[in-house]
Amino acid sequence: MRLLVVEDDKDLNRQIVTALENAGYAVDKAFDGEEGLYLGETEPYDAVILDLGLPKVDGVAVLQGWRRAGKVMPVLILTARDRWSDKVGGFDAGADDYVVKPFHIEELLARVRALLRRAAGHATSELVCGPVRLDTRASRVVVDGNPVKLTSHEYRLLSYLMHHQGRVVSRTELVEHLYDQDFDRDSNTIEVFVGRLRKKLGVEIIETVRGLGYIAAAPEKV
Ligand code: CA
Repeated sequence: MRLLVVEDDKDLNRQIVTALENAGYAVDKAFDGEEGLYLGETEPYDAVILDLGLPKVDGVAVLQGWRRAGKVMPVLILTARDRWSDKVGGFDAGADDYVVKPFHIEELLARVRALLRRAAGHATSELVCGPVRLDTRASRVVVDGNPVKLTSHEYRLLSYLMHHQGRVVSRTELVEHLYDQDFDRDSNTIEVFVGRLRKKLGVEIIETVRGLGYIAAAPEKV
């Protein structure tokens, strides 16, 4: 899952980005409305964290710009405690959720998880595919009840496929949603990660669809 953080307060931006990266997401960052607007219009994010008080272009205008451009990714707005009118403006502009500053980073993480799974049509924080269970809160994976240790890239890959299970996901889409902007992207590495993931899981839940990509699906019961 790839996220964008638009926040002009450098310390807060770094704090949010670090927490999200530690939680296993690929994260891009912007420090003003202009940069944020551009990134949100041109890159495919799974969710965005958007401050409302931003230099150059304010947050509400950024959000309106994205929605006008047909961008439907979930957007969580950050707003100051006494600015309830900002909040209303944010929702009118197409925000999906908000967090009031100052906030606990855990609350932000929980809201981001909820946005991501709702966007993918899941009601709970645990995703299940056959014998594989992925706990999005703890970033943990178990197979038949046994914990499996995954690297952050392997986890991201599995998490993305499981959020979209039953749908074929192309390699290009995976590359766009697993790596941040600065990462040296190479779609061949996806195949390597899929291979390692299959080996570690020990069960067939990731199928290759020749020429199209990959699909996560529960193995058929014999
Ligand atoms: Ca601000």
